[in-house]
Amino acid sequence: MAATKVATAPMKVAQIPKAGADFEIVEREIPKPDRGQVRIKVQACGVCHSDALTKEGEWPGIQYPRVPGHEVVGIIDELDEGVSEWKQGQRVGVGWHGGRDGTCLACRRGDFRNCRNLKIPGISYDGGYQEYMVAPVEALVAIPESRFRRSSTVALRRNHHVQRAAAQRCFPRRPCCSAGCRRHHARRTRPRNGSSARRRSSRR
Ligand SMILES: [Zn+2]
Ligand SMILES: [Zn+2]
Repeated sequence: MAATKVATAPMKVAQIPKAGADFEIVEREIPKPDRGQVRIKVQACGVCHSDALTKEGEWPGIQYPRVPGHEVVGIIDELDEGVSEWKQGQRVGVGWHGGRDGTCLACRRGDFRNCRNLKIPGISYDGGYQEYMVAPVEALVAIPESRFRRSSTVALRRNHHVQRAAAQRCFPRRPCCSAGCRRHHARRTRPRNGSSARRRSSRR
């Protein structure tokens, strides 16, 4: 009698199977990095209000099932052979900016966060709610050991909200994704007079 074959899927992911559905934990094969990409062994991923965009299908064009998560910290465990500026074992983060075209007007101004073809982890491709994720090199930030000890996902989260708020000041009609951004933006753009303005400026 032939031995029973047991399929062993090597990693777990938390995915949204379709817009409006609940999270489900499923097993998948560990993905391989494609051209210009690295694979990250995820150590932590922040939970952000913007994940609701994926959960509820409120961002146009999301393909399901989709794994949310755009505040990711982990270790590079495999790279495309063409990638030379990053190395295996390096700790990196991936935030809201998950890739760009490099050619649109915003990119040519160096304003990559407002790229017309911006890619967002957890929306454009599978994000950090999984054991391994693949990301393009332009999405990576290096995270030195000392910073990781000070909770890198908190730093990425702050970075997300501050940068999106800054983007909204430059491009006020662009939607701002999270409650955190809106609060930050409102505080920064309120008229600066009286004692409350002085208090705010002393906090910066
Ligand atoms: Zn976020
Ligand atoms: Zn662009």
